[in-house]
Amino acid sequence: MASDNILVIGGGPTGMEAARGIASLGYKVTLVEKRPRLGGTPDASQYAALTPDLRSAEEAIGEMVDAVTNKPNVNLMLDTTVVGSSGSVGNFKVKAIQSGKEITIDAGAVIVCTGFTHFDPGRETQKYGYYEHDDVITLVDAEKMLKAGNFVRPSNGEKPKRVCFIQCVGSRDRQIGNEYCSKVCCGISSKQAIEIRQVVPDCKVFIFYIDMRMYGYWENEIYWPAQEKYKVNYVKGIATEIVKKGDQLIVKGEDTTLRRPMEVPMDIVILAVGMEPSEGTKKVADIFGLKKNKYGFIETTGGPLNTVSTEVPGVFAAGASTGPSDLEDCVSSAGAAAMKAIASLRAAVPA
Ligand SMILES: Cc1cc2nc3c(=O)[nH]c(=O)nc-3n(C[C@H](O)[C@H](O)[C@H](O)COP(=O)(O)OP(=O)(O)OC[C@H]3O[C@@H](n4cnc5c(N)ncnc54)[C@H](O)[C@@H]3O)c2cc1C
Ligand code: SF4
Repeated sequence: MASDNILVIGGGPTGMEAARGIASLGYKVTLVEKRPRLGGTPDASQYAALTPDLRSAEEAIGEMVDAVTNKPNVNLMLDTTVVGSSGSVGNFKVKAIQSGKEITIDAGAVIVCTGFTHFDPGRETQKYGYYEHDDVITLVDAEKMLKAGNFVRPSNGEKPKRVCFIQCVGSRDRQIGNEYCSKVCCGISSKQAIEIRQVVPDCKVFIFYIDMRMYGYWENEIYWPAQEKYKVNYVKGIATEIVKKGDQLIVKGEDTTLRRPMEVPMDIVILAVGMEPSEGTKKVADIFGLKKNKYGFIETTGGPLNTVSTEVPGVFAAGASTGPSDLEDCVSSAGAAAMKAIASLRAAVPA
């Protein structure tokens, strides 16, 4: 028998917004999340403040969590991982493991919102010594320290005097096969540079970039204030190696504007790691027979005119499961997926 329930897989920003939208239109939704709590990567990685307005991530994500918790029409299943599926549009039987037990969820349509993972800087870009030097950290590590209000050198607990960001780590890199731009890291680095200048005002902050890619209003909201108000130094340059000298790090590379080699001492180096598909995204794509692009993100079928439909009728994908996305992209695609999932359900289960 056809089901009038829509299954949303993944309780990050995208999944929460899709579930909220479906329920607010009066349809039933089951939201499954494999972690014991909602919030997705911003919660798991303890983001401090969000671009562009430095709003507390905990507060913003908390609002999204409240909108789907104890709400009519929302069946929330935490600690639940999707492991299999049979059936087709109107009548999917989805298998999941909930707190160690196998369960079956009936769904007329499915929205995949299984998100991304951060690039592991130790994987193929060993030149930066992430796993060798305590003071080489990632955007995610920096975010945790900023959230705790304690931005210090991990090696000795002292306040840094010189900090730099290295952009495009794991993105725009043909050698490792990630040619794409991860879209959010230029904005997030600039946001963190502002926060570092706020919490350690006498610290000099540098951003080594290939191109600065600020999208839309982030240019005015983050990039110019970072330079003009917070005196962050943007240097067009390529860092090729990080070595340790005494208790400092030396960043070696080339200043491409001045066309000369550079060797600059730093106390902390922050690697702007990019986005890759999460394991959950790759597994769930295989479970539903969804096509993946060469990077492992789910391929949607309609190009720019339909960013959420997949080749499988009744199965939609949104947010970072389909490629690098910021929260604005996630929320927009979640709304589009909710609308299309409802439309497919109505066609499969006539009122
Ligand atoms: C360092 C960093 C900082 C960032 N800061 C900002 C910012 O300030 N502003 C901004 O706009 N964007 C920011 N972003 C981007 C933002 O994190 C993403 O746009 C957003 O988290 C993507 O949301 P999502 O719900 O699609 O995926 P995710 O947040 O990754 O959530 C996916 C969820 O799916 C769950 N899941 C996976 N597999 C399964 C399964 N099989 N069954 C059940 N559940 C499953 C996961 O546990 C997870 O909870 C940042 C990104 C990085 C790298
Ligand atoms: S957003 Fe910036 S740092 Fe991130 S991949 Fe694109 S250009 Fe590189």
